[in-house]
Amino acid sequence: MANLGTEQNPLLVAIVGSGPSGFYAAEALIKSEFEVNVDIIERLPSPYGLVRSGVAPDHPKLKTAINLYKKIADDPHFNLIANVTVGRDISIEDLRKTHHAVILTYGAETDRKLGVPGEDLKGSHTATEFVGWYNGHPDYRELEFDLSQDTAVIIGQGNVAADVSRILSKTVDELKHTDIAQHALDVLAESKLKEIHVIGRRGPAQAKFTPKELREFGELSDCNPIILEEDLQLNDESKKELEEKTNVTNRKVYDQFCEYSKRELDSSKSKKCFFRFLMGPQEIIGNNQIEKLILEKNELSGEPFKQSAKGTNETIEINTGILFRSIGYHGIPMPGVPFHESWGTIPNEKGRVTENDGAVVEQLYTGGWIKRGPSGIIGTNRACSVETVTNLLNDIEKLNTETKKHGAKEIYSKLDSKNVRHINFAEWSQIDTKEIEHGEPKGKPREKYTSIEEMLSVIK
Ligand code: NAP
Repeated sequence: MANLGTEQNPLLVAIVGSGPSGFYAAEALIKSEFEVNVDIIERLPSPYGLVRSGVAPDHPKLKTAINLYKKIADDPHFNLIANVTVGRDISIEDLRKTHHAVILTYGAETDRKLGVPGEDLKGSHTATEFVGWYNGHPDYRELEFDLSQDTAVIIGQGNVAADVSRILSKTVDELKHTDIAQHALDVLAESKLKEIHVIGRRGPAQAKFTPKELREFGELSDCNPIILEEDLQLNDESKKELEEKTNVTNRKVYDQFCEYSKRELDSSKSKKCFFRFLMGPQEIIGNNQIEKLILEKNELSGEPFKQSAKGTNETIEINTGILFRSIGYHGIPMPGVPFHESWGTIPNEKGRVTENDGAVVEQLYTGGWIKRGPSGIIGTNRACSVETVTNLLNDIEKLNTETKKHGAKEIYSKLDSKNVRHINFAEWSQIDTKEIEHGEPKGKPREKYTSIEEMLSVIK
């Protein structure tokens, strides 16, 4: 066979998952010195992963990343095969036969467990469920969130917790011109919530919000951010953490907490969003439905930047009928691919998939959250995918085969033989156009289709 990566023998790469890391991997492959054809396989009819169904509807700027993804999709070397589930409609083994290499960028689809009694009571939800629901993700559209309570609790102090608590704190007027799903807007319009408690197991110097996300709580039209001054006292180790030059983010976040603690309560606003620290969930109590949350007061122990929360045996209770666990995402395994259960990631060496003992698995690569765990902003995935693609291209000679591979053509014949309806980028664009049209009369950037059947019915 001719050298791999030439016009006579293009490198064929299948990418599993069309979120940011999948698109950035495609971009790096297409822009490389080699001739590469990329097929991105996506479970839903719609691409873009968490940019479409994770980024909060009131953060439209973050969604402009899609403009770049559209440009990548315009390249003749790019192909989308959507509405296809790898592991069900087609296997990793199939993709290893049809393509020279496979990059797994399917993200972290589930949530970490709290591991406390009562976690699964009615009214106790994961952040993933709520975020998927308000973003119109087909998997979550049927869920119900009872906002007839006066108090909601969010466990965790990362940016997902910020999104969940901000959406709960906002008025309909603040949300109605976003791309929030209509079913969510309707339920939020009837919300009776008065208090939202955002609980951190560690202190105000360790909260994982970014300053911009925290600042937004000070600009809400009907909600006061509340922090007690006494909660902002720091131990020596936390002071050292904030004094560290490079720790700008936590310092800014802490300063913002201080500013909120000094603010006068605006009595014209009907809601309060409390940020509370050094409290770990101990038990969720209720009879079928959650009624209250028992929290144990914590103290910190350990060196600066390695401080962990330890219970003090002192407990406090919050009466609440609705709780959201926002303590980080967790990846799920893919049949035929090694997996690290406790980390929820695919074991890898700079993007080359390995067995758990470190032996490299030929042809398989990984990028994004399923490679490195659920952290970082959208842009973080670019460098992550570039690292993976660099290593893949360094392996190009090893990836060459004696017999020709047929890429997408062979995938299509497998899918067609199983009657799997697959969607290409042009077909997705028809759905996209219709969503934008449906949003226009409401002054929304789009009204998303929330069921796969609806999406497919639009395609001519
Ligand atoms: P995260 O930033 O890792 O925050 C998880 C939070 O849960 C932390 O406060 C953590 O506390 C807490 N936690 C973990 N286990 C816990 C337990 N057993 N009990 C109580 N609390 C627990 O995760 P995330 O909020 O899911 O965000 C994931 C990534 O997406 C982050 O990098 C985030 O910045 C990014 N993101 C960005 C945006 C944006 O840019 N606007 C929006 C959403 C998400 P400890 O610190 O003590 O572990």
